[in-house]
Amino acid sequence: MKRIPLHALPDDVLAQLLTWQQEIDGLPDFAARVDVAKTRFDSRSGRSNKTFRQVRAALNDMCSGARRCMYCEDSVADEVEHIKPKNFYPEAVFQWENYLYACGPCNGGKSDKYAVIDAATGAVVPIARVPNTPIQPPPAGDSAFLNPRTEDVEQYFFLDLVDTFYLLANPSASPLMQARTQYTIEVLKLNRESMPQARQEAYESYRDRLEAYIRRRDKGDSAAKLAKRIASLQKAAHPTVWHEMKRLNVQVPELKNLFQEAPEALTW
Ligand SMILES: [Zn+2]
Repeated sequence: MKRIPLHALPDDVLAQLLTWQQEIDGLPDFAARVDVAKTRFDSRSGRSNKTFRQVRAALNDMCSGARRCMYCEDSVADEVEHIKPKNFYPEAVFQWENYLYACGPCNGGKSDKYAVIDAATGAVVPIARVPNTPIQPPPAGDSAFLNPRTEDVEQYFFLDLVDTFYLLANPSASPLMQARTQYTIEVLKLNRESMPQARQEAYESYRDRLEAYIRRRDKGDSAAKLAKRIASLQKAAHPTVWHEMKRLNVQVPELKNLFQEAPEALTW
């Protein structure tokens, strides 16, 4: 998972979202805000809605590869996901910064799972709703779940490029960030089923692309042709794999050699 590049929404779309959000925020009761937020989001977020067609188009442009999920970077993204769940944060249901494009397995698995950080202890405190009790606002506290719309999340992950291709918490990060990253990996099941194999295949594809670039560069391809290769690599799926290949290249002999031959690739 990497920070998602920002694409601006047209002003009229942002204004419409703001109006819809203010309608929710104006309701006096928290339970009513949750209820109305969910109903109105469901009725307005379809592809027939003019505003959400543009929201989806912007999210589409922000995905890697062929509209890959912004969480796992693997499956096709077709669901507008609320980073802060609408069941707990009705004040963010029509907030542009709270949206990303996610695949079914990530979005469905995450569902309402969310947690805050206890300010006194630094502990991750999952938010839970007790059935048959009044709907209450969630406890105060910073989010435990990493937010790829607003945080440079790639610095908190570590990808095992040598053996398992598991995504792990970066051991160099602070204990708090490691706990947040671990929580995020568990909620999204980022090492589920075929994910390690998909990352390994992405690794091999990036490596092969880099080898091909070096061959073509050394054969004298034009700058324009090489630029096309670079742009294509930068649009490929699993950008976290490429990020980690650059960051950890000295630890993997075949990568170390390739990046020594093409140090310019470290800036791609
Ligand atoms: Zn996903």
